Amino acid sequence: MSQYAMVIDLDKCVGCHACAIACRAEWQVPSEQGYRRNWVKRIGPEKTPYGMSYTFYPGLCNHCDNPVCVEVCPADPITKEFVSKDGKKKKMEIKATYKEPFTGIVLIDKERCIGCGSCVEACPYGARYLNENLDDPKADKCTFCFERISAGEKPACVQTCIADARIFGDLADPNSKVAKLVKNGAKRLQSDVVKIGPNVYWKGSKKDIHALFKNFAPKERTWEDVQNGPDLSRRSILKAALSSSKRLG
Ligand code: SF4
Repeated sequence: MSQYAMVIDLDKCVGCHACAIACRAEWQVPSEQGYRRNWVKRIGPEKTPYGMSYTFYPGLCNHCDNPVCVEVCPADPITKEFVSKDGKKKKMEIKATYKEPFTGIVLIDKERCIGCGSCVEACPYGARYLNENLDDPKADKCTFCFERISAGEKPACVQTCIADARIFGDLADPNSKVAKLVKNGAKRLQSDVVKIGPNVYWKGSKKDIHALFKNFAPKERTWEDVQNGPDLSRRSILKAALSSSKRLG
């Protein structure tokens, strides 16, 4: 089974934000309220044990192996049949957000999302937002440009990156560039308390990797955070969904 992944090279990223702009244009992400599917954050200049670092953190959904966003989704599961590019079929129970079985990409079924915001609160990477500009608000996030890659294209951010800092491919293929970079030490952004198997990796100098982990290693999110997080109107939707679902009681 494939697992699509991305490696981001901090030595190459110049912080130009072309990736973030391309993503916004591709997916018509509203520019208000800080909504975004991906981002570039500046780190430093700051001291590290390896010298001064000034670097960028280009981030996005990590399409985790054990995504907590999927775990907390209160939508009732349905059975869905998936078909791979080469015609293999697999039936699976899914909630409104799920890990697609043939690509490992975490997706959102917008038809079934109830807009409760629990996945947004649960993600320890802050990778999701709730689009409240819609009459019927929905969660949204990076999909590794699922439709583009299904058509044989690259994700928009990879296509646009002027520095070739983003490398995308299938981790399950040992000959892919991403698999080789991971084998050679590209790192997942994890912490001692949050290890959910992110599939975005970073490479770069020791000082840049140190600064990235020091500033952005994920922190634990609890059920309490999830249930207290959404604003009042969201919280009542979540409460209703939770009370109708014994699974999350
Ligand atoms: Fe879910 Fe967040 Fe992991 Fe993406 S990064 S799969 S939104 S937990």
